[in-house]
Amino acid sequence: MKNKQIKKETAVVHKGYDSSVHHDSLSVPLYQTSTFAFSNAEQGEKRFAGEEGGNIYSRLGNPTVRVLEERMAELENGQSALAFGSGMAAVSAVLIHVTKTGDHVLCSRGIYGCTFGLLEMMDEKYNISHSFSAMSTEQEIEAAIRPETVCLYVETPINPTMEIVDLELVCKVARKHGLKVIVDNTFSSPYLQNPIDFGADYVLHSATKYINGHGDVIAGLLVGNDAEDMMNLRMTVQKDVGGIISPFDAWLIIRGLKTLHVRMDRHSENAAKLVSFLKSSPIVNKIYYPFDPDHPQYEIAKKQMKAGSGLISFTIHGGKEVAQYLMNALELIKIAVSLGDAETLIQHPATMTHSVIPEMEREKMGITHSLLRLSVGLEHSDDIMGDLQQAFAKVETHFAQSVQK
Ligand SMILES: *Cc1c(COP(=O)(O)O)cnc(C)c1O
Repeated sequence: MKNKQIKKETAVVHKGYDSSVHHDSLSVPLYQTSTFAFSNAEQGEKRFAGEEGGNIYSRLGNPTVRVLEERMAELENGQSALAFGSGMAAVSAVLIHVTKTGDHVLCSRGIYGCTFGLLEMMDEKYNISHSFSAMSTEQEIEAAIRPETVCLYVETPINPTMEIVDLELVCKVARKHGLKVIVDNTFSSPYLQNPIDFGADYVLHSATKYINGHGDVIAGLLVGNDAEDMMNLRMTVQKDVGGIISPFDAWLIIRGLKTLHVRMDRHSENAAKLVSFLKSSPIVNKIYYPFDPDHPQYEIAKKQMKAGSGLISFTIHGGKEVAQYLMNALELIKIAVSLGDAETLIQHPATMTHSVIPEMEREKMGITHSLLRLSVGLEHSDDIMGDLQQAFAKVETHFAQSVQK
């Protein structure tokens, strides 16, 4: 069966691997090697000259890593993919690749904190500027585009308020102005959203999250829709900046990726059940979830995502004291940043992931002390809800008592 005819669920299990040339090993072997021995001096010469394919040195490519890259390119409907040692290594590689001194990057209203930090550094050191736009209409995007703009950098859903950016609209406007579109697709995973289908040039992931899905690796992946451009990126930025993945981490992700579709279905199902539960809780005020019909951009979410994914943010009645009391009252749910793991995680953005943003600005973004973010795991939904329910009850009792005192 030719690879092109198989479905993605099958491709993540089989693509890019032929067991008959690997001692019939069912599992993709781990090539834990830094370098490769040439048969003779002439072969080495040919490989360096690009006249013969094959391995040279693991920073330029590794057979285990290559299987992961092929599967990711397939999952994101791209031409080729590159694996990195962290999500931030993928972000920095693509931004270095598309910009030069004097250029401008237009970002969606919210971006990952360290991506913001990187852009600030690029501005200070290399005079590569950036600005933000809600990108909600063509006019709004065009008003934010400058003569020196080279790319649009988008996250959707936006962390932690789950604001949605319309990928079709953004890509249409970018094409009209000859700009590249880079999408950080970490929150949706390639199973739920494929930005290249809407015209994006690059899609990147923190593979640390849903792609690996087991909370034991830090890694990144970048997929592109132009194979030649990606080869260029591999042989310049990736090779010379060097933020590559280790073969062992690639091997773990190959294992995690096999169950991506099964996991994403369950994360999304569990999250949908939790949204209904949270809505019925008197402690909860607002809920932010892309597939909640009350989400202001529900229709756009439906257009570009297959399901709502596993992230829910919600506000509670009360401030920091109540939020922290609630987190401490949980027994099953872990207090941790990161997301996309089998374990349900909760975090408090105002004092954790978004604590470096000045309070005024943070509050404007809707990241108040009342806001909590849940990464819904793969446990039985009854147990996740049960844990929240008992913690809500403790909050009600505790704060009712403190009011009486
Ligand atoms: C975690 C994360 C990153 C950074 O990835 P690392 O693997 O931690 O380097 C980038 N973007 C988003 C949306 C993330 O959640």
